[in-house]
Amino acid sequence: MRILLTNDDGINAPGLYVLEKIAAQLSDDIWICAPSEEQSGAGHSLTLNRPVRLRKHAERRFSVTGTPTDAVTMGLRKVLPEPPDLILSGVNRGANLGDDVTYSGTVSAALEGALAGVRSIALSQVPVRESIGDGVDFSAAEEWGARVLRPLLDQPFAPRTLVNVNFPPLPASQVKGIRVVRQGFHDYARGSLVEGVDPRGFPYFWFGLQGIEHTPAHNTDLEAIAEGHISVTPLHLDLTHDASLKAMAERFAQERATS
Ligand code: MN
Repeated sequence: MRILLTNDDGINAPGLYVLEKIAAQLSDDIWICAPSEEQSGAGHSLTLNRPVRLRKHAERRFSVTGTPTDAVTMGLRKVLPEPPDLILSGVNRGANLGDDVTYSGTVSAALEGALAGVRSIALSQVPVRESIGDGVDFSAAEEWGARVLRPLLDQPFAPRTLVNVNFPPLPASQVKGIRVVRQGFHDYARGSLVEGVDPRGFPYFWFGLQGIEHTPAHNTDLEAIAEGHISVTPLHLDLTHDASLKAMAERFAQERATS
């Protein structure tokens, strides 16, 4: 089984090394293609206004001067001799839960893989707190990773779907288990806005992740993590809202009838 690894925290991210250890339990045919710098919050963006550079760091280890989507695209079109059987994105430093998944470079890298028809899984380690810097404990992801992935490799994935996995902020021994749950929603994803003045006297603003409050709905990823479980959530790219589509189609049909 050929596996392509990526990580939106960049080619040197600690979580990428954790993912290598997890992937090594599944296969010895591992390729890495990751952004050269951290790209957290890049979402599904594609670099169009400048070239991207591909760097080879070692056999089967490459970086791209672009976004997570660029890295997966380059992995599939340029780096790997044949398509992989699996794309793993992570282990992200930080949660990718609820409606935050659309900001996520980690989830978007897996989304790009899914669009290319490759089985793709995003993995994220929730830290005890966002301001913990390099002190994130990846032990839950490291010890549970292969246990979460193996059952997912037996199952067919529907077209244009991916799986989003989050590990709770607990030592591996305290993780309660694995739950398959829906994507939840934050009450209001405002985060924090830090304001300051730069050394040259100009004001700046910095979006933070603190203070995102939620009252987790039952059987959601947010609830599973809050209760100490690993969350496993299948996602799909069809963002169409079917009920609204029907109502709108009827409204426009009325409009045509009366005009
Ligand atoms: Mn990240």
